[in-house]
Amino acid sequence: APEGAPGYLERLNPEQRAAIETTDGPLLVLAGAGTGKTRVLTTRFAHILLSGRAKPWQILTVTFTNKAAREMRERISFLLGEPVEGLWLGTFHALCARMLRRHAEYVGLTHGFTILDTDDQLRLLKQVMEPWRIDTKRWPAPGLMGVIQRWKDRGLTPARVTDTEDSDFADGHARAIYTAYQTRLRELNACDFGDLMLHVAEILRTRPDVLDQYHRLFRYILVDEYQDTNTIQYLWLRLLAKRTGYPSNICCVGDDDQSIYSWRGAEVENILRFEKDFPGAQIVRLERNYRSTQHILGAAAGLIAHNDGRLGKTLRSGKDDASGEKVLVTGVWDSEAEARAVCDSAASFHAKGQSLAEMAILVRAGFQTRAFEERLVQTGLPYRIVGGVRFYERAEIRDAMAYMRIVNQPADDLAFERIINVPKRGVGPAALQKLHAAARARQVPLAAGTQALLDEGGLKGKMAAQLGTLMNALSTTRDILTREGHVVAVEHLLEETGYLDMWRNDRSIEAPGRLENLKELVRALSDFGTLGEFLDHVALVMEHDENAGDAKLSLMTLHGAKGLEFDTVFLPGWEEGVFPSQRTLDEGGLKGLEEERRLAYVGITRARKHALIFHADRRRIYANWQPSMPSRFLDELPDEHIIRKENGAAPQQRLNMTDSVFANGPLTTRRRQDPMLADANTASFQLGDHVRHPRFGVGIIISADRHHLEIAFESGDTKRLLSSFIEKI
Ligand code: ATP
Ligand code: MG
Repeated sequence: APEGAPGYLERLNPEQRAAIETTDGPLLVLAGAGTGKTRVLTTRFAHILLSGRAKPWQILTVTFTNKAAREMRERISFLLGEPVEGLWLGTFHALCARMLRRHAEYVGLTHGFTILDTDDQLRLLKQVMEPWRIDTKRWPAPGLMGVIQRWKDRGLTPARVTDTEDSDFADGHARAIYTAYQTRLRELNACDFGDLMLHVAEILRTRPDVLDQYHRLFRYILVDEYQDTNTIQYLWLRLLAKRTGYPSNICCVGDDDQSIYSWRGAEVENILRFEKDFPGAQIVRLERNYRSTQHILGAAAGLIAHNDGRLGKTLRSGKDDASGEKVLVTGVWDSEAEARAVCDSAASFHAKGQSLAEMAILVRAGFQTRAFEERLVQTGLPYRIVGGVRFYERAEIRDAMAYMRIVNQPADDLAFERIINVPKRGVGPAALQKLHAAARARQVPLAAGTQALLDEGGLKGKMAAQLGTLMNALSTTRDILTREGHVVAVEHLLEETGYLDMWRNDRSIEAPGRLENLKELVRALSDFGTLGEFLDHVALVMEHDENAGDAKLSLMTLHGAKGLEFDTVFLPGWEEGVFPSQRTLDEGGLKGLEEERRLAYVGITRARKHALIFHADRRRIYANWQPSMPSRFLDELPDEHIIRKENGAAPQQRLNMTDSVFANGPLTTRRRQDPMLADANTASFQLGDHVRHPRFGVGIIISADRHHLEIAFESGDTKRLLSSFIEKI
């Protein structure tokens, strides 16, 4: 650094310095993961203040999550050596909420307006929809809510929705319903999440006086994770940044390879529009990565190179140790072995002195966390679920558990009350009171009271029919339980009571995830001998309390991990149908697949020192084990940065081990994990060889690569399998 550079600038490389010292005019920092984009933004903030260009409240700073906002506030305080207050720093929504409170009257609200949560939104929309008599099979409320939200993401107030666009949804009534919904919100002095952006953008568009006020206030605008902004957010930024008579001092940092929110309306094209909308914009590229070792970067770069239409970037590791470890790809026998392998590995890093706070397990989908949570509880490693609810505390899991409890224990009134109207059976508060009264009068539990009332014809109409179906499902489930066991019984239960259908018919974004979680629940059931054992186990897992303040291993989704970094990152479930997700595969098409690949890139690049990827040979779908194929992303990782391992013992032993696990249940001590096999390879096999697989039986090799054999089995199935489980005959 040149003579006299202040301390905070000395610790930067020349490109980073350029990005910070180019304070005036539009600036786009386009750079790969871990190149210090966020650090540039934070330092830029400090530089603007320390060079006397603006006061803290004259800088508008946008982060992608509240957590990132908190971290940035801390980093800024640290750089300045004192706490800072009065900042305009937060997520798009948080910043807009603050603005909207100031100008609520311009959109027909008052200062104290309420922000509705998703449940309230939906309830309101359902009421509003009623007069239109929409076919709710085709256009259920959550689906329509999604349509309205996408419109809001794109800055479309009801008046801006075009006829063509309108005709696509709800038989051409969507815009009218949207209008009525907005009117109703106003009457309630409320707004939903999407309105925060929409209303503020509308005010800025239509009230030059207000816009001018902000133009004079915000001398500088800083935006992190720019690649994930959607249209309305972009519009909002552009309105605020284009100041008549002043330069547009907007600095956006982003990475097109980390754009992972297109499903929420994010448009990576906003990066390309930047130069057009802000003529004379400077572009700075950062190429030195300060986070990860050479092998981790090499693996990530090799993977993302498979995407088309990238803006293109190079990444060099800034770390001089070429000694860093390669990315470890481990194949395991099944999803439980995967949880064991990950937790054992975390424990061994921990034993070598690494803090648990520096480790994370990053999953593709919420349902994957269950196996890890259980294993972590057993091994006693402290963990926290970041940005999500613990598996057994999720609404759908609690519902399903309530169904099981009432089967197991007919006197469990709490459980019965929870599920009596889920799915909707027309049991309102008045009806529920009547059922309670009936139970009390007969001195029996609620379920028995309901049955008695039904038998006597004391209930009428649709509700009677639906409660009849429910009671019938409960009793047939109890029969099946004794005859065919608890797994089949619970499948029957969730099906016959209409609970699964409720989610199948739900068009909200969360519904597929909830169905996945329910499948995972049924999978977990088969680890236990009886329903009662399972229910006890869950009660115990839920009891397990956290020791606040301690260093904990993080368990989170890949989406939630954006912008974060850890010494060690575990990436489980790299299998076709998990990652890339089944939904992406079903939809086909390149776009979805490329977004999954970017997500994989985000995952690998979170690691500073160790990245460990896992894939299982089989996963349980409901109660059945199904073979799974390693993710295509594994083949795309360059060999020179990867070590591939097959983890586990010989097939025969493995089967025994797995069997004993089923017999004992996870709470009992499991047999020690067998030593790792040496690197598996297929060199000793030839096309046409006759082979045996412990599960699929006898077959012939029809093709092979380095690690996998494709085998045509006698059963008629053809499967691609890891060679380590296959013996020649
Ligand atoms: P992502 O794309 O994942 O959000 P990023 O580009 O925002 O990454 P940062 O999180 O800002 O990257 O930086 C990555 C790591 O590198 C951080 O630990 C940061 O402190 C460090 N770092 C950044 N620049 C330098 C530098 N010039 N010297 C030393 N360390 C640096
Ligand atoms: Mg960042």
